Amino acid sequence: MAKLYFKYGTMGSSKTANALMCRFNYIQKGMNVLVMKPKIDNRHSTSEIVSRIGLSAPCYTFASNENLLNFYEKENSLSKIDVVIVDECQFCSKKQVEQLREIAENLPVLCYGLLTNYKGELFEGSKRLVELSDSISEIKTVCECGRKATMNGRFLGGVLVVEGKEIEIGADEKYKGLCYSCFKKEQQKANVYNKILKYINIFKEKDSVGEWSSDTSMDNIVLHKPHVVYDEDVQAFINDFKEFQIKNPNEAIIVNNSLKDLKKITMKDKSFDYIMTLIAYVLKFEKGTPGLLKALIEEGVLLKWLKQVKKVINQKSI
Ligand SMILES: [Zn+2]
Repeated sequence: MAKLYFKYGTMGSSKTANALMCRFNYIQKGMNVLVMKPKIDNRHSTSEIVSRIGLSAPCYTFASNENLLNFYEKENSLSKIDVVIVDECQFCSKKQVEQLREIAENLPVLCYGLLTNYKGELFEGSKRLVELSDSISEIKTVCECGRKATMNGRFLGGVLVVEGKEIEIGADEKYKGLCYSCFKKEQQKANVYNKILKYINIFKEKDSVGEWSSDTSMDNIVLHKPHVVYDEDVQAFINDFKEFQIKNPNEAIIVNNSLKDLKKITMKDKSFDYIMTLIAYVLKFEKGTPGLLKALIEEGVLLKWLKQVKKVINQKSI
């Protein structure tokens, strides 16, 4: 039927595989299918659509300012087209969706793509498709936890990206379909990461982060055991850190709480979660081993750990 269809799903919901199966069905019936997708960047093959399960098909890629109605009319005059399939339709411009709407007056136009971006907001193309489509359907998939995935998490180095452009060309990032609850957890983790990163610059500049104190009474009797009174920056660090929930407490890193042993831990290949757990344990040890944090900061050990966090975030994956 000559209709405009919008079939949306999250990342990993086999949208492209669905598009390719649909194409196959039409071809089997002897129909001429025009497959198209918007040109985003040159990272991947621009002449075909490829699904994760290994299916692929040749396709036409169009620029963001290309008139799709003109292109369709030209192609149709050369060889009559029966069906149009658009993959990654979220990247179409508003105008292009309106052109697809016009094409759909003559033949079925099936659009496959994401509904929302990594912030949970509608893409320009998807918004117009919601407004203009005759038929809207969801290609469902599950989150890692088993709930239905509704959000598209964008990850850089294993940490959710919480701000930036809608499309980051050339960035080595990964997308994952998540339920809202898991998305929120990843968001909290990312916020902690972003907070913690600023301490690299703060601690780098410091020679001393606190003073030893042992409160005594008028007649010099010690009221409290010696402890370190930390400066505002360290107190802020400790507070910011409280928000981080250790992911796998059962897989806690067994470390001796002596400064010597902590210094020995090599950071090579250590993950975000490993380091965060390590820091959480150090903060816990501080109660029984006063001054541990002071020594770790002043000797540059904590800085080394934080730099490793930064490094893994900027790498492909944790
Ligand atoms: Zn989930």
